[in-house]
Amino acid sequence: MKILCVLYDDPKTGMPKSYALDKLPKIDKYPDGMTLPSPKGRDFNEGELLGCVSGELGLRKFLESNGHQLVVTSDKDGDGCRADKELVDSDIVISQPFFPYYLTREKMETAPNLKMAITAGIGSDHVDLQAAMDRKVDVVEVTYCNSRSVAEHIVMMIVSMVRDYHTQYAIVNNGGWDIADAVQRSYDVEGMHIGTVAAGRIGLDALRKMKPFDVHLHYFDRHRLPDTVEKELNLTFHESVESMVEVCDVVTINCPLHPETEHLFDEKMINKMKKGAYIVNTARGKICDKDAIAAALKSGQLSGYAGDVWFPQPAPNDHPWRTMPHHGMTPHTSGTSLSAQTRYADGVREILECFFDKKEIRNQYLIVQNGELAGMGAHSYSKGTATDGSEEAAKYKKK
Ligand code: NDP
Repeated sequence: MKILCVLYDDPKTGMPKSYALDKLPKIDKYPDGMTLPSPKGRDFNEGELLGCVSGELGLRKFLESNGHQLVVTSDKDGDGCRADKELVDSDIVISQPFFPYYLTREKMETAPNLKMAITAGIGSDHVDLQAAMDRKVDVVEVTYCNSRSVAEHIVMMIVSMVRDYHTQYAIVNNGGWDIADAVQRSYDVEGMHIGTVAAGRIGLDALRKMKPFDVHLHYFDRHRLPDTVEKELNLTFHESVESMVEVCDVVTINCPLHPETEHLFDEKMINKMKKGAYIVNTARGKICDKDAIAAALKSGQLSGYAGDVWFPQPAPNDHPWRTMPHHGMTPHTSGTSLSAQTRYADGVREILECFFDKKEIRNQYLIVQNGELAGMGAHSYSKGTATDGSEEAAKYKKK
């Protein structure tokens, strides 16, 4: 079989010769008891850079020794890109949310052999899920592999944005000691009302991680959490996003992107928020209206916006979130720490082993199977697609 793997570029200075840490901390299982990915083999050292082209997710030896062909590229956008050329006779496509290969209906139609799209990470909105259902292409992802990595990033972003860390760091780098400038937008998080849109793996973990800051915690989700969890965290449940955002100082967005959540945070929703609130969005860029966010930061309706997700990705060089005031944006990195890479590389191998051995893939990993939303997909997604506009990713020019 031919496996096309689309990954981000290697470091500009080449692959690392050594790493900051020799070993990763040992994690036995996820908080709900789910086991970590458990492939039969592994051809890399944990903690290595695996998500870039030369890292190859550690798959080459395994695939080639089993008679398969692996093609790895980062050339994924624009007419005539290598990924499009290789797709036409591929059986499996592997891509990542950090550097997504947008598998639109048009692209899928060029690939009659395509059987499966694997997301090396979580969030398969870069695949036209409706087209995958229509064409019976299965879609799977490595559920839980980086959920807790993202929750850590959310805490980092809430605290650094409310305290205005970015301004203070820049002052030091510029050789200054301008304390009044450094603190004129700096507050404590303690006592604030913090709310999450969705309390799934990431949302709930972010609530748990924020609890020791002595804040008031809120959530909105389509399904309510167990009573015991609500009591343990002293959570306020809201029947609607609107009712939650009216009372929160910080709103963190943690639902998948699908037709129900696309542009959920538009001008109307942002105007319902408490004046001067902060948003942290590590879910998907398209859940927010990019121009409405930039305008709200300029007017003061929002005090800050941070996140690592954009639409499309890579974000065009003139994307307003690169230059809007009071932002704390990073490229899409929260789920691709070296720690997470080991887990998603193991997860992709586990999925491939199951597929080749004709064994069932874990139900938690399924998004689309046999033409229907399945597993996590049936629980968390809705029918349709959210890939429209992804061709804009071709506008990005490398610096
Ligand atoms: P989960 O599936 O555990 O949680 C998703 C939650 O979103 C579920 O509780 C689901 O609710 C809820 N949800 C779905 N639709 C809605 C809606 N319309 N309104 C409110 N809640 C909704 O996934 P994770 O927590 O692990 O990941 C969530 C998302 O975060 C991913 O889909 C991905 O987009 C993003 N992500 C980002 C990463 C990054 O690197 N920045 C890495 C990993 C994930 P219910 O099931 O109750 O219906």
